[in-house]
Amino acid sequence: MPNHASPMVTSDPLHARLALGAPPAEVAPDVLMHASFVNTYALRTPVGLLLIDPGLEQNAASVHQAVRAWSDAPVHTAVYTHGHADHAFGLRPFIDAGDHPHIIAQENCPERFRRYRLTHGWNAHINQRQFSLPEPIFPRRFDWPTMTFRDALVERMGDLEIQYRAAKGETDDACWVWVPEHRYLFTGDLIIWQAPNCGNPQKVQRYPVEWAAALETMAALDAEWLFPGHGLVIHGRDAVRGVLIETARYLRVIIDQVLARMNAGEAPEDIVHAVEPDPELSTRPYLQANYDHPKFIVRNLLRLWGGWWNGNAADLLPATWSDQAAEIAGLAGGVEALVRRGRALLEQDDAVLASHLAEWATRAAPENRDAQKLKRDVYERRLFQARSLMAQGIFRAAMNDARQALGES
Ligand SMILES: [Zn+2]
Repeated sequence: MPNHASPMVTSDPLHARLALGAPPAEVAPDVLMHASFVNTYALRTPVGLLLIDPGLEQNAASVHQAVRAWSDAPVHTAVYTHGHADHAFGLRPFIDAGDHPHIIAQENCPERFRRYRLTHGWNAHINQRQFSLPEPIFPRRFDWPTMTFRDALVERMGDLEIQYRAAKGETDDACWVWVPEHRYLFTGDLIIWQAPNCGNPQKVQRYPVEWAAALETMAALDAEWLFPGHGLVIHGRDAVRGVLIETARYLRVIIDQVLARMNAGEAPEDIVHAVEPDPELSTRPYLQANYDHPKFIVRNLLRLWGGWWNGNAADLLPATWSDQAAEIAGLAGGVEALVRRGRALLEQDDAVLASHLAEWATRAAPENRDAQKLKRDVYERRLFQARSLMAQGIFRAAMNDARQALGES
């Protein structure tokens, strides 16, 4: 039975309260939702199940169990809305149990998997830092797409038409799924109930412009239900359209500012400081910057349209950080002076500036315990102050580096 009382469904996104997860449930007619960090959906069709985003390798057994408790129909087709580790790695238990689904993905997905193999160690270390994991973890085993498409694909499952459309956004291998008969829209991570994850500091290029365009295309469909990659299912045409249009608008406000300033010839670093997201949209429950950070979207656009030079000529072919730090420490009258100043800034609650002092002090004299203690305390404060999980992961790793230098656990 559809469970419209599910905490994972809202028809009032402007006032919704985000639920972190809920037991698997049929949240809309013929749609099972398994929400555990990422959302996996199973859609009942006349010829079997359509599985949308099988999910994380670690949750695969839970997804399989939930689907099989709900239906014993074969999995006819699985689709990866993109090849990220939290979306495309949960099929194994289905295959092991005898399902032989078509696996549909956008054509750039296999190339992503090949890159994941090429840079496995790098991605494992990024993931460890980003999510503060105890050890480097990244998938090694792939269930490769059996059918890929460039722009669009239509699949007939019995008399039910399923439309797949390519997009770029968080990744270059995104797609979304539209079931016209039911007015069901499965967006993948084009909607995540956070400000778009469109600037991640440790990851490859992301695509804000194409992302906004995909949202606007989806808004024109007049979907009745929106099933996102993370967060709440949205029910009701106005509610769905509102979230899609406003998320696109959030991106376009940033895009337009960056473009205008780049075309005016401003220095990249100045652009980062100057550009701000729309203040009203930033208050929406579905556009909170708790995951990515709008300034990171700015940097991502600078990388997209520009080179890697930051606008400071000294940074083009620079002295090493430790040589720069030694020079600054010498001018200040020693590392102790840097530590003192860093402490004073921290007491004034200026952890941003204090973190530069901590970096200079620890890079000039890595063995200096007071310098490492400053670094530890500075990043503990920044971790506490940061809303963005992407920022938190990096601040926590820096704090832990200082702790390790101090011999603390
Ligand atoms: Zn995701």
